[in-house]
Amino acid sequence: MSVHITYTGGTIGMVDSPRGLVPGADLESWLADLLDGTDLGGQVTLTGLDPLIDSSNAAPGSWQQIIKDLRTHHADRPAQGYVVLHGTDTMAYTSAALSYALADFDRPVVVTGSQLPLGVVGSDAAPNVTGALRAATSRRAVGVSLFFGHHLLAGNRATKTSSWAFQGFTSPNAVPLAVTGAPWQWTRPSEAGTGWPHPKPYERHDVVVIDLAPGITAARLRALLTPLPEAVVLRAFGVGNVPSAEPGLADVIAEVIGAGVAVIVASQCYEAEVLLGHYEAGDAIARAGAVGSRDMTLEATYAKVQFLLSQGLRGDELSQWMGRSIAGELTTSRGR
Ligand code: ASP
Repeated sequence: MSVHITYTGGTIGMVDSPRGLVPGADLESWLADLLDGTDLGGQVTLTGLDPLIDSSNAAPGSWQQIIKDLRTHHADRPAQGYVVLHGTDTMAYTSAALSYALADFDRPVVVTGSQLPLGVVGSDAAPNVTGALRAATSRRAVGVSLFFGHHLLAGNRATKTSSWAFQGFTSPNAVPLAVTGAPWQWTRPSEAGTGWPHPKPYERHDVVVIDLAPGITAARLRALLTPLPEAVVLRAFGVGNVPSAEPGLADVIAEVIGAGVAVIVASQCYEAEVLLGHYEAGDAIARAGAVGSRDMTLEATYAKVQFLLSQGLRGDELSQWMGRSIAGELTTSRGR
């Protein structure tokens, strides 16, 4: 039984500084003490990425750095499972991004972090790390998952729902994979996707996420889309509704699609399944070629767009892949 940990930064290993929390705790010694005398004592290796970051500084290049560390370690000295220690702020983006790029990785990867640093009494660092290690060696976890606050969630279905609660993540459109206890309660394996053989590395692409709000004008939307990005994630209302009575608004979206830029419509609802064209308010943009993000989280949607752009897909081809499951990121079995 062996686990490799890739440590990327985040609150878990932070210490106070005059300018706020920064990485600096001796995570390696803390971990050795935590596991001493347990079945995992001496079985865990750790790589710290350079530099350690607050995850609000993460970008597609950071995702690639993690993937490289996991693949390099696996080629040199395969472990039974892998754990990634990460800041909570963008953890769900990273876990979704890893799920696409590691669809061919034959070992479980569990991402975790904590709301309080490991050196604070009452911190959630120890239960989260031991839970992630337990999941990674469980022989039940597959693909990329996220362990936090006693729940194991599919890595590409999770979202950060609290900046303070120890149960900081949920998966709004998918049941948890497991809940801790004696014994752990496992629910169902993740839905498999098509996979993606030989993925090209993540590169940073110009993807814009736009939130609609009542009263938005066509001129404002046009300004937000100038110059044209490589893809657009438009967070609309409900099942993907866009104001249809606002003059020129749908035309702006149609022009963007006409210029070869994929427009993916997501929902602002926490729990959602985007059904473009279900209402007249979403019909015009659906006809223009916009596609819905179905029941993917924003994090899974955004990371998927970055992934597909990094694979060289654009426009229609990219849009079509948004509706296909690569790594279980959307529900395909509802038959809609
Ligand atoms: N700002 C921190 C980070 O995401 C928050 C955390 O880890 O909880 O790196």
